[in-house]
Amino acid sequence: MNYFDQTTETLPREQLAALQFSKLQAMTSELWERNSFYTRKWKAAGVKPQDLRSIDDIVKLPFTKKNELVDDQAAHAPFGTNLTYPLDAYVRMHQTSGTTGVPLKVLDTTESWDWWGRCWGHVLAGAGVTAADRLFMAFAFGPFIGFWAAVEGARKIGAVMVPGGGRDSQQRLELMREIGATVLCCTPTYALRLAEVAHEIGFDLAGIPMRATVHAGEPGANIPSTKHRIQESWTAKCFDHAGASEVGAHSFECQVQPGGTHLIESEYIAEVINPETGQHVPAGERGELVLTNLGRWGFPVIRYRTGDLVKMNLDRCDCGRSFLRFEGGILGRADDMVTVRGVNVFPAGVENIIRKFPEVDEFRIVVSKFKQMDEMDIEVELCEGASPDVVHQLAVKLDSMLSFRPRVHHVARNTLPRFEMKAKRFHVRHDA
Ligand SMILES: [Zn+2]
Repeated sequence: MNYFDQTTETLPREQLAALQFSKLQAMTSELWERNSFYTRKWKAAGVKPQDLRSIDDIVKLPFTKKNELVDDQAAHAPFGTNLTYPLDAYVRMHQTSGTTGVPLKVLDTTESWDWWGRCWGHVLAGAGVTAADRLFMAFAFGPFIGFWAAVEGARKIGAVMVPGGGRDSQQRLELMREIGATVLCCTPTYALRLAEVAHEIGFDLAGIPMRATVHAGEPGANIPSTKHRIQESWTAKCFDHAGASEVGAHSFECQVQPGGTHLIESEYIAEVINPETGQHVPAGERGELVLTNLGRWGFPVIRYRTGDLVKMNLDRCDCGRSFLRFEGGILGRADDMVTVRGVNVFPAGVENIIRKFPEVDEFRIVVSKFKQMDEMDIEVELCEGASPDVVHQLAVKLDSMLSFRPRVHHVARNTLPRFEMKAKRFHVRHDA
């Protein structure tokens, strides 16, 4: 089994908790009276670092919500007050992709950027990446943090990292073949897009010795039929990973692929709560993931409400790691759920059904809410030569799985948008 740091990854859970608590204590002491965002919050809640006597005391600290960070930056432009050190100490600035509103700027010090690299080291080692690998990053390197930290992770592992920005899909495929890329890092959507382009131009993917794909930026690698399709297209093992600009790269899939992702518990503390009450839910029950990162002291998040829904599993994994797992990875976003004709629907659930049809190349889901009548329309683009009968079969399948029948429309090839990052296939319209 390939590890990034075997001793820590296999620690008995009590020792892991002790490690987390010592890091939490050191961080909160460092932040007190230095980081004005958190000092203000804690004073308002009547709590100080010395009040934390065990890891369970973390609940004494208030939650942090994304809008607090965004509002703070708007009020104290451009970087806000979640800064523990003078600006001179920071070496990197990135920003969120801004898919939901104003982008949040995040800053890193030399130490916290190194921490990001360690987290990505866990992600890559988890996927079996070693110094013998050649990683191709099919990503347009810009201010979105995306795979920037993966570059640091690759360096820690000693693998060769090839940036794939500034070129189109065909050029990326050619470069991967030329250098003999063994690992592809990109969004799940883009892995499928590259395979589609290869098919269109008659490029044989077998010419690339790819053995693993590692994904970030959006869900997909945890949706069984999407994962299956990526693995089939690339004849490579597909690895899920989750992270966020304001939190860090926090969970990864191991080589055993037990149907979920491990949290890097040496660098994070996870809590799973009922989003309504804020109370912890037991392991095995679905709830909202709350994360505290332990190594980004310059711009930390403490008890951060991620909005992601997860189900925790504390059993030791067959890979030997004691790090907890999220069964099925990130199951969806608390705010992504829509109710259509009384049925709770998650976009990932619909995607999982659609991706079971290999004839469907691209799709878009539109939910219209008009008075009491909700409708779901699904537009599908079929692969070249596929029979249009598939559209009807898909409608029947969706009906049986969702308990209502969405309208499925067959649209001409290349009418739907293609995505490289942050695919947006799910839309909700509120008609007046
Ligand atoms: Zn494992």
